[in-house]
This record gives sequence, structure tokens and C-alpha cells, in this order.
Amino acid sequence: MVEKEMRLRFAPSPTGPFHIGGARSALFNWLLARKHGGKLVLRIEDTDLERSSKESEENIKAALRWLGMDWDEGPEVGGPYGPYYQTQRLDIYRQYTEQLLASGQAYHCYCTEEELETERQALLAKGETPRYGGRCRNLSEEEKAALEAAGRKPVVRFRVPEGQDIVFQDMVRETVRFESAGVGDFVIVKSDGIPVYNYAVVIDDMLMKITHVIRAEEHLSNTPRQWLLYKALGFEAPQFGHISLILGKDRSKMSKRHGATSVEQYRQLGYLPEAIVNFLALLGWAPPGEEELFTSQELIEKFSMDRVAKNPAVFDVDKLNYINACYLKKLTLAELTDLVLPHLVKAGYVPELLNEEQRAWVEQMVEALRDYISYGAEIVDHAGVFFQDEIDFENEDAHEILRDADVPPVMDLFKTKLLALETVDAPAIKALLKSITKELKLGGKKVFMPVRVALTGCMHGPELIHIVPLIGRERTLARMERMLAKI
Ligand code: GLU
Repeated sequence: MVEKEMRLRFAPSPTGPFHIGGARSALFNWLLARKHGGKLVLRIEDTDLERSSKESEENIKAALRWLGMDWDEGPEVGGPYGPYYQTQRLDIYRQYTEQLLASGQAYHCYCTEEELETERQALLAKGETPRYGGRCRNLSEEEKAALEAAGRKPVVRFRVPEGQDIVFQDMVRETVRFESAGVGDFVIVKSDGIPVYNYAVVIDDMLMKITHVIRAEEHLSNTPRQWLLYKALGFEAPQFGHISLILGKDRSKMSKRHGATSVEQYRQLGYLPEAIVNFLALLGWAPPGEEELFTSQELIEKFSMDRVAKNPAVFDVDKLNYINACYLKKLTLAELTDLVLPHLVKAGYVPELLNEEQRAWVEQMVEALRDYISYGAEIVDHAGVFFQDEIDFENEDAHEILRDADVPPVMDLFKTKLLALETVDAPAIKALLKSITKELKLGGKKVFMPVRVALTGCMHGPELIHIVPLIGRERTLARMERMLAKI
């Protein structure tokens, strides 16, 4: 038997920044499509005319590309089941609406907002779940004509069959059961002729021959309506997999409060796409072994829905930083420099255009800092020591270090030796510091620490053997003078 081709889709609404949760849904669909040699469709769900924008669509596509998730059908690439924009499919939806109206599975509803609200409040007052009571279910042609003559524009409602058990197997949630009695006839087409999400999505997934739908848990409550529509249209529903919510570390729903939430923000902060993909895969999916670092290719091989958890995924930014730092380590110095450069420019530390000498200097500085950063923008938090000559003690402990009795001879010797050096480079500074410890018979720390504090004001930071050559002899001596004067 030839196995049916697996067809998945990612169907974003282009109504704002591309959220990390959307990227995770896209990733799970993409991984499955690639793993099983299936197809991934990108469909733009742009029926919310007010909130949809071209800018958001471009942003989503750019983010997908940046993350390395390609699509087989959809905008730009075309495909046999297009168009791939819902606003270009209105005629298609209309045909199905006519079919549903003709068969009596849907009907026109003329209720006004106020009428519906009154009904809602009445049900709430009785402690019942609000749902449409069916006032327009059985209108005669005369009644309809009268309402239309009165200027009312109808919506189209789906007639929910009574007493139907809605049961489906979810790839994550296993058996999911809803009662149709709780659903109530729902709107499928608004009075302006635009279909609602629950309706358009069914027709599209059906016509695009989608076999599996992996999406966020928040859509689980939409699924009964979609399931009923599949039945009414005589189609088998795809297999659903509702992946859990993404929570912040404090276990509340991930929001702006938790820091960056869009893919674009992470790109701008200097995270690497491979690291983001790796991290997103772990938001809900548990890899089979201890290992957590995977290339996209490895994820394609290892990923499976049976290891996707029901319980919420926690967005742990420390973990993301750890993963990103692992990927940063693999970059060449030139690549890492390219990544951090925009941040140094933005901070006003380096000019946008660097000559060869400046570039070499920046590379050396990046080398000195590479172990301290886990994403590009973080370089700015550590680079100050190379640019700011007006320094101060970071705290009283640092200040105290320069008051030690051993400090004056250390400083004197350091100055004399530095002035005598032919070349100020890392090996020379290393040898210089060592010779001071020997001559003064002091432990390493007794030498390094005061020199470090005198040069940076801080007790921790990049190695002295890198700092001194990078800031050069004159600035080193000037900084020392200034700091020693503050004791
Ligand atoms: N356009 C919907 C959204 O962005 C798609 C939901 C679905 O995958 O069915 O939430």
C-alpha cells in the first residue's frame, strides 16, 4: 500500500510581530514535513482586514527564512492548491456557503448585536453557558424578506446538528471529547461576506489536502466547530495535534513582560537562528536522550509527536542563552565580529565603517570577550572597559584592594616595566606580570587584582593580558594614574 503523503501547513494571521509561539508551531510542522518527506504549505490567513498587514506578512516570511524553515507551497513559491491568501479565496468559500445554505446546514441570521447581547446576559443570569438560542433557525421566506426590507444584513450561521458527540484523537491530548449541545449555532460568514476563521480554515485545510494540523493549544476550543464543519461538508478531518502553551518562567502566559517575544527581537539581539530553532524544538518536545543540542538536520531525524508533552512548556531565557552561547562558540572570530559589530556601533563604541587596522583591533577585543557573551548585544555590557577611560571603582571592595600595602611597589614596577617594553602584546604582558610576582615575591592575585582594579575599576572581567595591549601603553598608564589618585 502506498502511504498517503503527509501534508502539513503553517497558517499565520499577519496581524503583528511574529511571536515565538508561532515560530514553534511552524517548526513542529516543518520538522514533521521534512522527516516524513511530506509537504509544508504556508497559508496567509488575512481575513481580518483591519489588523492584517503586508508588513507583518513580510516579517513572518523573513523570520521563517532566517530560521531555515522553507515551505513547499504558498506565497512566492505557488503550488497546486492556491491561492494561498485567504482574501484571494473568497469565491471558493462562497461556493461552499451556498451549498450549506441550500442543504439547510446553514442559515441566514438577522439578529442584531443588542438582541444577541440580551440573550447572552439572560443565559449568564441563569448560570448557563451563553450560546445562540436559534431565533433565526426557522425563519420563513416572508420573515426574511421583512427583515431585509428593514435594512438588516444577515450573517450565515452553521446549524449544529443536535446530540452529536464530537470525539477526535489528538496527537498530543489523546482522546478529546466535546458535546455538540454546548456549541450552539455559530457564525461562519459575517454580514460583510467575510468568512470567520473557523470556517475558512476548514475549507482551506480540506482543499489543500492537509493531513496533519499541529497548532497551539489555544485553538483546541475551536476544534469542535471545525470538526462539525468537516462532517457537514463530508470530509474527513485532518489529524490534530494541539501543542501546549508557552509560559514564562513565573508560569504565567508568555507576554512582553517576560522580555523579547518576537523572532525579530531575538534576531536583533544577536541570537543565532540555529540556536533559536534548537531552543524552540525543546519547548514542548523532549528529546530521547540526555543530549539537548541539535542541528536542524538532527532535529528532523529525532523529532516525533509522541514525545511532545501535554503540560505547558516554560520559556527559560537562561536556557536559550546557554544554547546560544554553545552555538556562538562554533563561530569563527570573523563571524562573531560581524554578529556583534552592529551592537558596538549602536553603542557608539566603533564607527560603522572600519579600516583594516580598526577591524583587527575590534577582532582582538571580541576574542577577549567571547567567553563572556551569550548573544550579540551582550557584548555592550562587557566592552566598556576597552572604551571608557573615565572609570571608577565598581564597589567598596574594589576600592579597598588598591589600599593594600603591597600596591605601591606593584604599581611602580608595572609602570617601569611597561615603559620598557618593546612591543605591548599578550605574551609580553603575561611575562611582565609574572616577573613582578617573582621580584616582589607575591602571589599572582596580589599582582593581578590591583592592576585589574587600577585599569578597570572592577574585580572581574576580561584577562589583563588582553586588556593592556588593546588599550595600549599610554591609556593604561593614564588610567592607573587616575585611579591611584582616587585612593
Ligand atoms: N490563523 C490562525 C492563527 O494564526 C491559524 C490557526 C490554525 O493553525 O488553525 O492562529
